[in-house]
Amino acid sequence: MNDGGERQTSAVPNRQPLNDILLIEDSVALSTLLQHRLERETSARVFHSASLEDAQRQLERQKFTLALTGLNLPDAPQGEVLGLLGRHQVPTIVFTATFDPDMSTRYAERKIIDYIVKNGDRTVDTVIGTVNRILANGQFSVLVVDDARTARSGLVEILERQNFRVLEAHSGRQALDILAEEPSVELVITDYHMADMDGHELTRRIRETRPSDELRIIGVSSSSDRRLSANFLKAGASDFIYRPFVPEELQCRIDNTVETLTQIKRLRYLAERDYLTGLANRRYFFERFPPQKPAPPTDAVAILDIDHFKSINDTHGHEAGDHVLQALAAILIEMTAEGRHLPARLGGEEFAIYIKDCNAFQAHSLCERIRLHVEKTAIPVNGKTIAITISIGVVEMEEGETFGNQLNAADQLLYMAKMNGRNRVYSNLTLQEALLPQDN
Ligand code: GH3
Ligand code: MG
Ligand code: MG
Repeated sequence: MNDGGERQTSAVPNRQPLNDILLIEDSVALSTLLQHRLERETSARVFHSASLEDAQRQLERQKFTLALTGLNLPDAPQGEVLGLLGRHQVPTIVFTATFDPDMSTRYAERKIIDYIVKNGDRTVDTVIGTVNRILANGQFSVLVVDDARTARSGLVEILERQNFRVLEAHSGRQALDILAEEPSVELVITDYHMADMDGHELTRRIRETRPSDELRIIGVSSSSDRRLSANFLKAGASDFIYRPFVPEELQCRIDNTVETLTQIKRLRYLAERDYLTGLANRRYFFERFPPQKPAPPTDAVAILDIDHFKSINDTHGHEAGDHVLQALAAILIEMTAEGRHLPARLGGEEFAIYIKDCNAFQAHSLCERIRLHVEKTAIPVNGKTIAITISIGVVEMEEGETFGNQLNAADQLLYMAKMNGRNRVYSNLTLQEALLPQDN
């Protein structure tokens, strides 16, 4: 599993950890340029050393996610810095003046991620691209499944060197257990021959619950049977690699798999979000909560609409109106963050909030807090501030009613809120209160 230094990453897999990079380079021009671009284009903090001696001091003082180093330093002209980084177990990217084909074999035992040849314009772009890939890998969980311990740990070592968060299983059964407990795993690399179930069966079993746009599977085997790969792919694997690995090939295939998943996630995000506010869009909202289906009576739904929004556009311009919509969305995100609620932009200046696990009173009072917060917020636009109010209709779900009907009920309550003066929340509670005798 992880060595001591990477435990932090595995404990908080979904949060971007703070990454520190040690840049070891004596050329002032190159190190200044690299430091500047790394700080601007990656999430890392950069620490610079121009000599072996200084690098040693920094390594003793703190832990680094990654080192970037040249091979020749004034006080270490023979690449001694790699020995130092190896002793401190820091994954390392090396840049060199010339490409030496023996280099990768000479330093194979060290934690070297990549060699980048200093060949002018593209060098810095390549370094930035590699650093971003390695840092992104730290958010990516891979499960390695193999009943042979040495084969497994070889693969684990390669993956950990690439900064992946790695989990291990020694059987198909254990792999399924781990996947059930760890929904964050996005890639499974599995051997074919295993005692309790073969790789094909494991792949089929995983596919019963995890589709390929969520989790990728790569099969591996040292068998010479060429049909294994086709069968793996038919069972639902995305790729297959024969042992013994050519490390570069393995790395490229893993990178491709990670890139495909990242692109799928990005496309899904774009398809589900409203472009202006970043909130869930109408399509996603109704996909999550289909109007023809009943919704649980433990939940509630609110519809909210900005009051006299047309006049904000007319007075301040359409662009200012867009800012207002964004500011309102930010308030909705902030005020629904604690529950498993889902705010969405249904269209124009109309929003909905699906409210989880609450009774009528709690739903009403959440909406009332939102209304008040919006009323009190001065929205800065073009050096001025704009104040807005919103009206809200909210209903607690009723047993056996479709979600669509409840949404209509919320819409009617919203209409009543508008008719009765705007800047107010209407729910069944409001209606009941209106029927009670007033004592003022
Ligand atoms: P009410 O209090 O009754 O809700 O009045 P209203 O003016 O808010 O409602 P109305 O439905 O008459 O006007 C809504 C306006 O919202 C009209 C439309 O131009 C504007 N709008 C819709 N989508 C956008 C958008 O994306 N950006 C901007 N700036 N304005 C939008
Ligand atoms: Mg409106
Ligand atoms: Mg409207």
